[in-house]
Amino acid sequence: MVNQLSSTAIAYPTGHTEETDKPYPTFSFLNNTFIESKSTEWFDIHDPTTNFVVSRVPQSTEEELEESIESSHIAFQSWKNVSIIKRQQFAFKLVELLRENFDRIASVIVLEQGKVFADAQGDVLRGLQVAEQACSITSDLKGSFLEVSADMETSMAREPLGVIASICPFNFPAMIPLWTLPLAIVSGNTTVVKPSERAPGAAMIIAELVEKAGIPPGVVNIVHGKVPTVNKLIRDPRVKAVTFVGSNKAGEYIYQEATKHGKRCQANLGAKNHLVVLPDANRSQFVNAINGAAFGAAGQRCMAISVLICVGETKNWVQDVVDYAKGLKIGSGFDPNSDLGPLVTPSAKDRAEKIIEQSIKQGAEILLDGRGKYPEQYSKGNFLAPTILANVKPDMDCYVEEIFAPVLSVINVQTLDEAIEIINKCPYGNGTSIFTTSGPAQQKFTKNVDVGQIGVNVPIPVPLPMFSFTGSRGSFLGDLNFYGQAGLTFLTKPKTITRLWKTSDYEDSAKTTSMPTH
Ligand code: NAD
Repeated sequence: MVNQLSSTAIAYPTGHTEETDKPYPTFSFLNNTFIESKSTEWFDIHDPTTNFVVSRVPQSTEEELEESIESSHIAFQSWKNVSIIKRQQFAFKLVELLRENFDRIASVIVLEQGKVFADAQGDVLRGLQVAEQACSITSDLKGSFLEVSADMETSMAREPLGVIASICPFNFPAMIPLWTLPLAIVSGNTTVVKPSERAPGAAMIIAELVEKAGIPPGVVNIVHGKVPTVNKLIRDPRVKAVTFVGSNKAGEYIYQEATKHGKRCQANLGAKNHLVVLPDANRSQFVNAINGAAFGAAGQRCMAISVLICVGETKNWVQDVVDYAKGLKIGSGFDPNSDLGPLVTPSAKDRAEKIIEQSIKQGAEILLDGRGKYPEQYSKGNFLAPTILANVKPDMDCYVEEIFAPVLSVINVQTLDEAIEIINKCPYGNGTSIFTTSGPAQQKFTKNVDVGQIGVNVPIPVPLPMFSFTGSRGSFLGDLNFYGQAGLTFLTKPKTITRLWKTSDYEDSAKTTSMPTH
């Protein structure tokens, strides 16, 4: 048995801490109890704005990982039989508690991940919306029924799978765990969540709310760590499905390893999202939208726009984009005047700066250079201000790499066809967008572009939870997408039952060994 603490609410800091402040603990959550890991291996969590250590996250021990899976496996045996109405009631309660703790979750996201507070609230909101939608899946779980004949019927029910492992990235610490957790538990599954080792605080508050909502022990467990934790979750036979969101490098490995071990897997991966602007677009609407989509969250969104394709004369609009971007303020996420915060780690910043440098060597023209700029108070933070590279060609590093930073690459073309060709040649297919007032042009774009999520005058077209998150090609591995109907189908398996209730005497039945034909 691992060492237990009583279930507890941590008073997370609601602002930056001092270097001398004691780091707050990051517990694991097993059987509705917060436990302090017995691990000998811990990773520091730094506040990206100050680079002071704010917490330490353990590499969960083998014993802790074993307990997380086993308790989830045991809890599944009873949880699947809890009535759907009761499971729905738990989800209602969880939604209510998420609302009550909304800003508390957003605060810890700002502290550990660096995004600005309003954006962190958006992170919580987009997860909360999936949780709200999960309350209504009672209707979607109805299954189907057919009266085959007067004495025969076939019904199809969707049953839960068992233990679902959820492996999460750093950039949406609340939204991504909530893409899976509520749907999984309302549909009768149990879950083991592994938050990002760089930003686990939001998931820990969600764990606290799970316990407060009265959800039984073992239905939701949270463990931590890096590859050893992931390997345990994707190989253990008691885990029936894996949901992953993160980079291509980790996701391709996880998808292959999980499916090799007989599990369902859905893996949302990296991206390179293009925005195409046509000369008939509303210029100021476009300038505003591209700035938010390229530089918001310091570009650390999988749906960030990182490539602008200017068609024809719109290349002359780029100066407006530069002027607008110059006015964006980098700073602490707790400062309501900040437009973007720092990158998550010093190495993320170094990597982005190296890609910028290399792209300039390859012939890109730097129109706005965000390197070496810091807010006055936070000279140790991982800041990179908005950066714009022009005359970009598809073989340059800034185009090939997912930079995951506030760096916008601009490509000029003459026609919409050329823009579509560039997008379709890019290996990623997460999101894309067109700005135009032409119906036929948007129709041509939406029909011909091979990308899973398209916006028309919408820069970041993330679908609401009644749809699914439908990234495609190099941005997704699997058959069924996250949340919505596809998410529910992923988390459940069909069971058909064919019943015969003869109204006439059984003795009347003719003897036969041939295939029944009803
Ligand atoms: P990451 O791949 O580094 O980490 C994601 C998770 O995988 C973490 O929990 C991490 O511990 C684990 N992990 C990392 N390397 C691993 C390995 N070698 N083996 C096993 N597990 C490993 O991703 P990140 O940096 O946290 O997140 C940013 C990435 O996530 C970007 O590429 C972004 O585009 C992508 N993302 C995609 C979506 C989407 O919906 N498509 C949404 C958010 C983020």
